[in-house]
Amino acid sequence: MYKGIEGKIYPNKDQQVLINQTFGHSRFVWNQMLNMLNTRYENNPDLNMLSFSKLSSLLTQMKKEYAWLKDVDSKALQNSVKTLRETFDRFFKKQSNYPRFKSGKIHKQSYKTLERTIRFNHNQKYIKLPKLGWVKCRMSLNHINNNNIKSVTVTRKSNNNYYISVLVECENQELPKTDKIVGVDLGLADLAITSDGIKYPSLYLDRKYKKQLHYWEKRLARRRIQAKNEGIDLRSAKNYQKARIQVAKLNQKIKDTRKDYLHKITTELVETYDVICIEDLRTSNMMKNSKLAQNIASQSWRMFRTLLEYKCLAYGKEFIAVNPYKTSQICSSCGSETGKKPLNIRSFICPECNTPHDRDINASKNIRNIGLGMSLSQ
Ligand SMILES: [Zn+2]
Repeated sequence: MYKGIEGKIYPNKDQQVLINQTFGHSRFVWNQMLNMLNTRYENNPDLNMLSFSKLSSLLTQMKKEYAWLKDVDSKALQNSVKTLRETFDRFFKKQSNYPRFKSGKIHKQSYKTLERTIRFNHNQKYIKLPKLGWVKCRMSLNHINNNNIKSVTVTRKSNNNYYISVLVECENQELPKTDKIVGVDLGLADLAITSDGIKYPSLYLDRKYKKQLHYWEKRLARRRIQAKNEGIDLRSAKNYQKARIQVAKLNQKIKDTRKDYLHKITTELVETYDVICIEDLRTSNMMKNSKLAQNIASQSWRMFRTLLEYKCLAYGKEFIAVNPYKTSQICSSCGSETGKKPLNIRSFICPECNTPHDRDINASKNIRNIGLGMSLSQ
C-alpha cells in the first residue's frame, strides 16, 4: 500500500535556482523526446513505439549533446522520459489524449525523483534531495520511515511556494473494519476522553517524578559549583557525573513511560474504531496549571495526535482533526448552546433538553458529531 504524504519545503536561494532549473530541464527532455517520436512516426508510421529502455539510452545521448542537462537531478530527467512513455501507453489504450508539449509559461511546475539516498533527518525538519542536499521542510505527518520512501515529487505552485509529496510504502496491515466512529477530547485530569465514555487518566508523571528530579537537579547544581571551586574538570568530577546521569535517566524514564502509555491508548483506538476524530490542539484549557504540568500535557497531546495519525494511516483507518470551537459549550444531545463554563464545572444539565452531561464526554461527543460530517466514508 502506497501513501502520498504532503509537505512544504523552504529551499534557499541556490536551491530554488536548482529546482527551477530541474523543472526546465525535465520539460526540455520531455519536449525533445516527444518531438523526436513525432518525427519518427511521420517518417515511418509502421515503426513500433520505442521501449522505455531505448528512450533511456536516447536520454544518455541527449546528455552528451546538451552537457548542461547534467547539472540537475538525473532521476528527474529519467522520470520525465518514463512519464512520457506511460502517457503514450495510456494513449494507445485510449485512456488519455496524445501527449502534448509542455510550456514553461505555466507557473505550476514539478518534477519527480526516486533516488535511494533521499532521507529525512532525525526530527524531519530537513529532507535530503538529490543535487539539492538538505532542504528545510515541514511535513503533514511525522515518523516517516526513511527506508519506505519510494519517490518524491517537488512542486512549485503559483503562490511561488515549494511543496513536496513523498510517496511511502506503508506496511500493509489493515485492521478489520468495525464500522465504529469515535470522538476524542484531550484534557489534563484525563489525558483522553472518548465519546463512548472511556476516560484514559493522565499519568501525572510530573507529580510522580517531581521530588526525585528536584533532588538530583539540586545536587547536580551544587556539585557543579563544588567541582568548579576545587578546580576539578567536570568530566572527571565523579559525584557531578553521577548526578548528571541520574537527571538524564529520570527524564528518559518520563519520556519512555509517556510514550508507552500513548502507544497503548492509540493502538486500542485504531483497533476499535474505523474513524477517529480528535480536536485540533488548543492551548486555552491549560490555564491554572504548573509550567511542568503544562509542558508534559502539551507534549503528550502532540505525541498522541502524531501517533494516532500515523497509526490510522498504517492500519487503514480514517483520522479527522476537528476545530474545537464551542465543543465544550454545545449540548451533544440537542445541539443548543449552553454557554461558557468555568473549568471547575465538570458536569452540567442542558437547560433545553435536561440531559445530564459529563463535561469532557459531551465535548468528545461533539467532536465525533462534527467529524461525522467531515468523514469520507459517510
Ligand atoms: Zn440539550
